[in-house]
Amino acid sequence: MATIGFIGLGNMGGPMAANLVRAGHTVKGCDLQAALLEAAAKNGVTVVATAADAARDSDIVITMLPAGKFVTSVYREQIVGAARKGALLIDSSTIDMDSAREAHRLAGEKGLLSLDAPVSGGVGGAAAGTLTFMVGGTEAAFALGKPILEAMGKRILHCGGDGAGQAAKICNNMVLGISMIGASEAFVLGEKLGLTHQALFDVVSTSSGSCWSVNTYCPVPGPVPTSPANNEYKPGFAAALMLKDLRLAKEAAEIVGADTALGKHAEEIYAALEKSGMGGTDFSGVINAIRARSGA
Ligand code: NAD
Repeated sequence: MATIGFIGLGNMGGPMAANLVRAGHTVKGCDLQAALLEAAAKNGVTVVATAADAARDSDIVITMLPAGKFVTSVYREQIVGAARKGALLIDSSTIDMDSAREAHRLAGEKGLLSLDAPVSGGVGGAAAGTLTFMVGGTEAAFALGKPILEAMGKRILHCGGDGAGQAAKICNNMVLGISMIGASEAFVLGEKLGLTHQALFDVVSTSSGSCWSVNTYCPVPGPVPTSPANNEYKPGFAAALMLKDLRLAKEAAEIVGADTALGKHAEEIYAALEKSGMGGTDFSGVINAIRARSGA
């Protein structure tokens, strides 16, 4: 069993750290919020004061932080200086490509192994230990990290070298953001054409329009009882987080010169949703904005 430093015990990091404890690992955790530290301690996490304390003498150091600037600063100022020789650093935050590569560079400079390993599956997946990890880094780092990630996730996919996990994550979420808008537009058009939700679902979910946004996460109440539409669009995956990921995709596309016209348009649609005060609702709640704009 490993000793693991865990930095960032928020909505995702809290339950992920608890699953590592459950799997028998020793977990040293830290966060800036006292209430989260109390909750983590109840789950068997040994609370430490700083990220450097979490990294010191740990076999593995995991970060689960809000954005790239936090990851690179905590790597630069605390983790790489404190981590022991041979330690593996895993960043599971969703961050921009440049910060992901900078985190690998900082680790490599000190001879440390590193992985970018963002997740999909949300808070429910983090609690259930069923996350998908999209992983970037060397074969050696992946081999070391995989058994640890398996304590928190169901599918651990090695996507390529440094940054490949983040690249896969933002591409996947760009597909998701666009497809949810497509599904929502179709249901609103169907309503206006007199189709019932169930009739349209029965066709699309078994035909060429089938996709996760319809089959598993349907934006109207009824056809898929577990989708947030049946629970007043409580997240799930908040619209603000979808907006964050679409911004990361847009930024990456601009840097490499990829034409992602629909990705950019989706970003504008979720930005308008957030501006209207709906950033905290599930991203499938975008259907309500589309319905309102349709005068329905
Ligand atoms: P969160 O805001 O709940 O948790 C982040 C935590 O990091 C906070 O508790 C914060 O206090 C802590 N933190 C910030 N700087 C720190 C520092 N220097 N030292 C120690 N702790 C620090 O966010 P979250 O929902 O847990 O998301 C974490 C990451 O996972 C984000 O990058 C997010 O985009 C990604 N993600 C989230 C979801 C989701 O459904 N919530 C799904 C997939 C991916």
